[in-house]
Amino acid sequence: MGLMEGKRGLIFGVANDKRIAWGIARQLREQGATLGFTYLNGAVEKRVRPLAESLGSDLILSCDVASDEEIAAVFKEVEKQWGKIDFIVHSVAFADRDDLKRPFSQTSRTGFQLAMDISAYSLISITNAAMPVLKEGGSIVALTYLGAIRAIPNYNVMGVAKAALEASTRYLAAELGEKNIRVNAISAGPIKTLAASGIGQFKEKLKIMDERAPLRRTVTQDEVGKSAVYLLSDLASGVTGEIHYADAGYNITGA
Ligand code: NAD
Repeated sequence: MGLMEGKRGLIFGVANDKRIAWGIARQLREQGATLGFTYLNGAVEKRVRPLAESLGSDLILSCDVASDEEIAAVFKEVEKQWGKIDFIVHSVAFADRDDLKRPFSQTSRTGFQLAMDISAYSLISITNAAMPVLKEGGSIVALTYLGAIRAIPNYNVMGVAKAALEASTRYLAAELGEKNIRVNAISAGPIKTLAASGIGQFKEKLKIMDERAPLRRTVTQDEVGKSAVYLLSDLASGVTGEIHYADAGYNITGA
């Protein structure tokens, strides 16, 4: 029997089959989970729908996480169709490319607000809206990166947003533990996705992984997915508020 058998959950952030969220979805499904998906807009829907259906999903909903109304509508629909859920994956982030290119001290006010809103605040808003369907407790996982705790070249405003996301993970975990809702984050190693290529010198980051990470390579989407299975399943029933590193060990040796 799979580790996720009998569990239902929602994944925010699949946009195509290269995304980390897709590796997570595949691994969760392999362990027996029933999955629902959200997508940003119509253009993304065209790619997400066939992927979601290939994993047997029929709950595929539109959601721009910048909108509390859209987030509320998602959970209303989840309640209508499923009644309750057991887990949520937050694999959403965004920053304006211009803000990532400029020196960090020149980050714009609007760019700062945008990165914070989409990449960090959305976790709080989603968790709050999900409370009525997390009826028997549950597990929430968000995706973060080492740039939250170290000044990684070119990660800039996204690093600040990830720091806020990691702090939000701890505050949500502290508040919701008494409801048996666990909240954790996975700090993934660099993986070549479309968004990642917006970060300057991304290729160099991958090369450094080959040289300095204990495993002498970076991780795959599916390896991050296996960490998500652990945190979302009963294997991690005693774990909350944790930043779990799925980065081939780079955080302990990387300069
Ligand atoms: P990604 O950064 O492209 O994923 C971001 C997702 O967010 C996309 O599916 C996009 O459609 C969605 N999104 C953006 N704005 C949105 C909005 N307003 N509403 C709803 N959805 C929106 O691809 P990824 O690299 O797979 O990243 C997934 C997560 O993993 C992100 O949180 C990212 O920061 C994190 N992460 C990525 C890496 C990496 O190297 N790729 C490493 C560590 C952590």
